[in-house]
Amino acid sequence: MDDNLITDQNTKIADLLERMKQFRDNRGWDHQDPKDMAISLVLEAAELLEYFQWKSGEEVEEEARLKGAIADELSDVFWWVMTIADRLNLDVSQAFIRKMAKNAKKYPLEVFNPSVSQDIQNKEYYKIKAATRGGHPLAEKEDQHS
Ligand SMILES: [Mg+2]
Repeated sequence: MDDNLITDQNTKIADLLERMKQFRDNRGWDHQDPKDMAISLVLEAAELLEYFQWKSGEEVEEEARLKGAIADELSDVFWWVMTIADRLNLDVSQAFIRKMAKNAKKYPLEVFNPSVSQDIQNKEYYKIKAATRGGHPLAEKEDQHS
């Protein structure tokens, strides 16, 4: 398919993973240290932030010249998401669906919906953050992550 015709609606994650692997493997980048890859992901996210620095969200939305640059940085972040997942043998789609299920429990619809005031939602949000940041995955038993 012509690259100009590729959209989110007609493309599978598997297609993008294949494209990423081809690009990566042709360059011999398939044995990078996952630690360096995670750092690279955050660096690309920081590059994305540059376009928002000193501007309101509204100003960014209105500035058409920034859209291409923002799309490039989002793509760089996505590159690292895909490469890290592949390096660690994680299925991105499965991971995303599982995390969404966790988020649905963490942020129950009865509280987190447009009919509930922002103030109440914020209070609940901070309660959840306080409760969830008390733990660490390596502090739990291994069989809890299978
Ligand atoms: Mg970049």
